[in-house]
Amino acid sequence: MTSNIKLIFEKGIEEELYNYVPKMDIDSTDLNEIIPKSLQRNDISIPNVPEIEIVRHFVNLSNKNYGVDTGIYPLGSCTMKYNPKISETIERMPGYSQIHPLQDENQGSIEVLHNISKLLGEITGMDGFTLQPAAGAHGELVGLLIMKKYFEDKGIIKDKIIIPDSAHGTNPASARMAGFSIIELKSNDQGEVPIDHLEYAMKDGDVAGIMLTNPNTLGVFDRQIKVITKVVHDNGGLCYYDGANLNPMLGICRPRDMGFDIVHLNLHKTFATPHGGGGPGSGPIGVINDLSPYLPEPCIISTENGLVCRQSNNKSIGRIKAFWGNFGIIVRAYAYILALGSEGLKRVGQMAVLNANYLRVLLKKKYFLPFNRICQHEFIISDRNMPNNVTTEDIAKRILDFGIYAPTIYFPLVVQGAIMIEPTETESKVSLDYFVEIMEKIYNEAESDPEKVRNSPHNTPIKRLDAVIAARKPVLHD
Ligand SMILES: *Cc1c(COP(=O)(O)O)cnc(C)c1O
Repeated sequence: MTSNIKLIFEKGIEEELYNYVPKMDIDSTDLNEIIPKSLQRNDISIPNVPEIEIVRHFVNLSNKNYGVDTGIYPLGSCTMKYNPKISETIERMPGYSQIHPLQDENQGSIEVLHNISKLLGEITGMDGFTLQPAAGAHGELVGLLIMKKYFEDKGIIKDKIIIPDSAHGTNPASARMAGFSIIELKSNDQGEVPIDHLEYAMKDGDVAGIMLTNPNTLGVFDRQIKVITKVVHDNGGLCYYDGANLNPMLGICRPRDMGFDIVHLNLHKTFATPHGGGGPGSGPIGVINDLSPYLPEPCIISTENGLVCRQSNNKSIGRIKAFWGNFGIIVRAYAYILALGSEGLKRVGQMAVLNANYLRVLLKKKYFLPFNRICQHEFIISDRNMPNNVTTEDIAKRILDFGIYAPTIYFPLVVQGAIMIEPTETESKVSLDYFVEIMEKIYNEAESDPEKVRNSPHNTPIKRLDAVIAARKPVLHD
């Protein structure tokens, strides 16, 4: 059926089949008068198909797409949780969706920006926020530029930063972009920062501080977190907190109370706004009072005359995004926070941890667990000890046959053959149990019929691609 439609779309249909539509009554020679010859083209290939075939073509294509509205999406470190429809409805209200950013600043939209900054301040403990960054990595860059400017202002040049090997991949990339060189810290066997190595690295006077992902990409909370921030501060450094995945902490603990000076949040993960497919994100940055003057401009501040936009701070790192960031995403996150309230947010934190640990305990019956301890919102299994040397890639491809999106694979690099699973708090027990059932089935197949797993996927429109050729000789269009 689907392939037939593709054929009709690509080849076009004999016109006589659709001859009930009256012929165009414009003489094509008239067109020459309406459209200048220089703009007319005869060489573009538009299929000669009626509307219904076009609609079918695109609807069938869209049915091949996979998203959080289709099924479980356990992609580790991505927090592909359900995006509540109420947030969509609210964002589409004309007061939000049809305003122009150059409109008078004294309006409700500025109040929304102000209010959500305050709420994020409560959630993280930070004093000032900017909502400009368009993504997590963009926020990291902003946070690091703030850190840099802070030291420059004090007349100190610090151009190194410590990043544990359990950090998200964007951390070292952002640090390089901000002009830092990176000192990598190897995690200990618990997946945590080794304090003695940290102390040693901080003795280097050029070190600006640490950039820590917490929970880290191994899904664990660093139990020495307060010691880490103290060591960095005692040696004159600043502490940056990658809070892209704050889900498991929501309403339970705060980066500021752990001793951090700068934090970024991913609204498009923690606060359930849609993402993936390159859609817009939002990566607000929160800082302590000492760093607030360095935030990007314009800032919104509250005065006796209401909210005003401040543009004149000479310490600011400057503007880093047009207007106020991705406003539609910010409104959705605001609606989400208000709808849940403090009790609801705490429940999100608890459920994110519970769901991940539920899966972890059930999967460890068959799969190898490199860090066998309570996890946060995600955890890692690996292909170590898989029967018949079935690999992580084989498992990920076979999962697709069951209509489920595969977890993150081969990341973090510190675990060989890693499979990083993040169920999120929005999955029901029924869907978690289904995932476990599929994973057990794949393990049993690896024992009894390994070729079936190795040759998967069997049910997807495109079978296994040659990843090497795809990377070396990509065909980007046909
Ligand atoms: C997703 C993620 C990032 C990067 O966020 P983007 O919006 O994709 O740039 C950074 N750190 C962590 C821990 C993340 O999970």
